[in-house]
Amino acid sequence: MNFKSTRDKNNIVNFSQALFQGLAQDGGLFIPEETADLKDLFNSFTKDTSFVEIASKMTASLLSDTFTPRQAQKIAEKAYTFSPKIVNLNNDISILELFHGNSCAFKDYGASFLALAMETLLEEKEKKAVILTATSGDTGSAVAQAFVGKENIEVVILYPSGRVSPLQEKQLTTIGSNIKALEVEGSFDDCQRMVKEAFTDSDITQKINLSSANSINLGRLIPQSFYYAWAYSQIKDTYADTAFVVPSGNYGNLTAGLYAQSWGLEIKKYIAATNSNDVIPQYLKNGKYTPISSIHTISNAMDVGSPSNYERMSHLFNDDVNNFKSKISAYSISDENTKKIIAKIYDEERYIMCPHTAVGYGAAELYKQENPHTKMMVLSTAHPGKFTEVIEEVINVKPQLPEELKKLESREKVSTLISNDNKALKEYLLTTY
Ligand SMILES: *Cc1c(COP(=O)(O)O)cnc(C)c1O
Repeated sequence: MNFKSTRDKNNIVNFSQALFQGLAQDGGLFIPEETADLKDLFNSFTKDTSFVEIASKMTASLLSDTFTPRQAQKIAEKAYTFSPKIVNLNNDISILELFHGNSCAFKDYGASFLALAMETLLEEKEKKAVILTATSGDTGSAVAQAFVGKENIEVVILYPSGRVSPLQEKQLTTIGSNIKALEVEGSFDDCQRMVKEAFTDSDITQKINLSSANSINLGRLIPQSFYYAWAYSQIKDTYADTAFVVPSGNYGNLTAGLYAQSWGLEIKKYIAATNSNDVIPQYLKNGKYTPISSIHTISNAMDVGSPSNYERMSHLFNDDVNNFKSKISAYSISDENTKKIIAKIYDEERYIMCPHTAVGYGAAELYKQENPHTKMMVLSTAHPGKFTEVIEEVINVKPQLPEELKKLESREKVSTLISNDNKALKEYLLTTY
């Protein structure tokens, strides 16, 4: 499979180029050039097919120009030392827990695959790369965990000093090895600006093979389709009519689901669940796409007012809102209702969910009112232990931190403080690598 830019169908690249370029040079996002047909493969999966096997076979089929089946299997085995779990709650609503990875959020699925794919390709070419990335918290920790110890890859993470949670900071600064944390005296926007500038500075790019690992990278998007295939194979014998509910911010997760569907996975409907950043629900309601400035909510990993993957979805649906509506329904859930849901599910089921997952659950209930016979699968995007403040406030119980994160509490923070100007980053990169 080759890939092309959303903005120029003649800008065609192979997987390796899409991976290391991240963004197309014309400013567009890379998308599959043609539609793959994986129907037979999907039909061959059963309840007993492991997640690693699904990941390995989908990789081998989709990326057969890039990886041999043997390489695909090695990538899947090494990337996925964790796997999803399904928890059945009441009335045909199930939770697809995607937070059993290293940073305890679903972003581990994309980041782990990206790291292994890059390591494999660099090894072949005997090249080295430096991954430069800015984070406001969660993305950076998934990337850091995924790349630790990878051969020929150095990672530099910029984060805004004092503006990430203490736990998030530990996740970024205690790993060591090939992961360097730069604590920037400024905002997340400063971090992003500095990273962008570095990519256009020829003094840096001539000396260092820079690459990015942000969420629009195809190497993170494609593997997010694997868990839809896994979850579907777990329930397909029991339910004919299923909808997957996706708590959404930048819409990478949902777009991956739409690709799986386009390759032949028989999911009837995707439900986009948002907090007050409701640009997609509004678009489906009135046909006008109007980005907004992001609104701060308690499900903060979804506080995105201008989702980048709208460009991919819109391409897939030929810019036609009716095509959108035939595949996606969308609901927005307020902070107040999100808290009510966390409380209700704890009360009824003794199950604790993170605020993002609760937004998904709220959307599932709304969809189910109109489609009572549909089996709902809600993607749970983060471990509740990462959001102790909100959860303790609502149910008066402190959720357990996952073991992976508990270990970090006693570790020493190691970071390099730098000022928020481009020269400081340039000097750091040129003297370190
Ligand atoms: C990133 C993130 C989301 C949003 O995912 P998108 O792919 O950007 O839509 C939802 N929940 C959590 C916990 C996240 O970290």
